[in-house]
Amino acid sequence: MTPEKLALTTNSRARKPRSVGVAGHPLAAELLARLGPKKVLHRLSERLNYRYDAIQFGVTPLCVVLPESTEDVVTAVKVARGAGVPIIGRGAASGLSGGVTPLQESLVISFTRMTRLEVFPQRREAVAQPGVVTLQVSEAAKPHGLIYPPDPASFRTSTIGGNLGENAGGPLCFKYGVSGDYVRALEFVDAEGEVHRLTREAYDLAGLLIGSEGTLGLITEATLRLTPPPRYARTLMAHFAEVGQAAEAVSAAIAAGAVPAKLEFMDRACVGAVEDYLHLGLPREAEAVLLIDTDGDDLDTVEEERALVERACLGAGGVVRRAQSEAEGEALWRARRSISPALGRIRPQRMNEDIVVPRSVLAEVVREIRALGDASGLHLVQFGHIGDGNLHPNILFDPRTESVGAVHDLAHEIALVAIRHGGVLSGEHGIGTMKRDFMRDAVDPVTLQALRDVKRALDPAGALNPGKILPPEEESSHAHP
Ligand SMILES: Cc1cc2nc3c(=O)[nH]c(=O)nc-3n(C[C@H](O)[C@H](O)[C@H](O)COP(=O)(O)OP(=O)(O)OC[C@H]3O[C@@H](n4cnc5c(N)ncnc54)[C@H](O)[C@@H]3O)c2cc1C
Repeated sequence: MTPEKLALTTNSRARKPRSVGVAGHPLAAELLARLGPKKVLHRLSERLNYRYDAIQFGVTPLCVVLPESTEDVVTAVKVARGAGVPIIGRGAASGLSGGVTPLQESLVISFTRMTRLEVFPQRREAVAQPGVVTLQVSEAAKPHGLIYPPDPASFRTSTIGGNLGENAGGPLCFKYGVSGDYVRALEFVDAEGEVHRLTREAYDLAGLLIGSEGTLGLITEATLRLTPPPRYARTLMAHFAEVGQAAEAVSAAIAAGAVPAKLEFMDRACVGAVEDYLHLGLPREAEAVLLIDTDGDDLDTVEEERALVERACLGAGGVVRRAQSEAEGEALWRARRSISPALGRIRPQRMNEDIVVPRSVLAEVVREIRALGDASGLHLVQFGHIGDGNLHPNILFDPRTESVGAVHDLAHEIALVAIRHGGVLSGEHGIGTMKRDFMRDAVDPVTLQALRDVKRALDPAGALNPGKILPPEEESSHAHP
């Protein structure tokens, strides 16, 4: 995305919403007639709430549908297609890559009323409609001695539809995997309004839908795998004078056979932000802090694994603190969960990168990004799921006083660092509009064309969430003559 376009989408005042009474718009009139007034939002004051995600503002949608069933979704898609209007599926809008921000006047289908959730303990499965909030799956499974492991930090608000749209991860993903790993079957509505029911067998079309950010189909139901929770967990915090030491500790622990349940990293700037906010007594002087959980059903094995990780941290020159109780462990994890609100106190907006690099180059990558941040004069913090090499460099900025173009340039440079070191643009937040233009650097022209072919095969008219993931065609051909 160009800086100009980013400025448009990050500034709520930059685009004037259409002031016309859209009730008279043919799309709204048809949807009202087919679905009734309770499921259709057409007043400007209502529609304004549906033009943003957690980082970007976009264009005010023409109309919003709140479906209560798959049939409602089918109706909405068919009416929008008949009117030639693009369609955007929306969950809780907690996305961090611009996935739900409309780039043109569109129909938004907001799934927040599709919240049916059933648990089948004997099959260790839950069947969820897309509007079910992530945490509710685990809460519903708990009485049956089961959990749903995917744990994005947003799990109190994000939805299953949005999690699958982005293939969301979380601290537990190193050991337990990401959202897509828990999908056994999917129901989705395609760009023509046809309903499909998929398992993970032939061609794994469900796998293609997962992480496709609503550009290939709209998920209307998911069958999710549940697992019994581990009986024991132990928490450890380690801090280091050098980022390289932290990376070395992680590699050494994994090489020695440890598979920690959680393995999280915070840099000095990030620790400082959280400490300013919560005053937990975190080591401000450290260049890197690791938060680590080991878990399992056998206490001795869990303790042994913790000891193994501890040795790796000490061997790399770290200082280790064991949580002596569940409450102390919980307090340490509060630090990690509070990063977002802590950063929100520093600047009103942030650009949240989501790169993944091989663990062997992590220290170098963190240092290079730090140097870029310092040179830019912008406020940058880094944290992430270090076990997977998934880093979240966050550029904090105020669009009223700081150059959005400079933010974009820094984000681009960070993406290039990841690519140069053999990494990728996104581990869990998706590409959306934010990283769309970086795709030309990350993906070779032949592969990019294959991605376009997939999109064309499933959505020939380009009606579903247009402008997301894939950079505009003509621009990419200029970039690769
Ligand atoms: C404080 C905070 C912490 C976060 N922590 C994490 C984290 O730890 N890990 C992580 O991975 N993410 C994290 N995120 C990002 C975000 O919460 C996730 O991407 C989440 O999966 C989005 O869910 P949502 O319901 O808000 O989806 P939305 O933002 O509404 O939508 C996300 C994408 O999915 C598509 N979509 C929505 N519903 C459907 C559907 N039914 N069918 C098809 N496509 C659909 C949308 O079009 C969009 O492209 C965090 C965000 C915040 C604000």
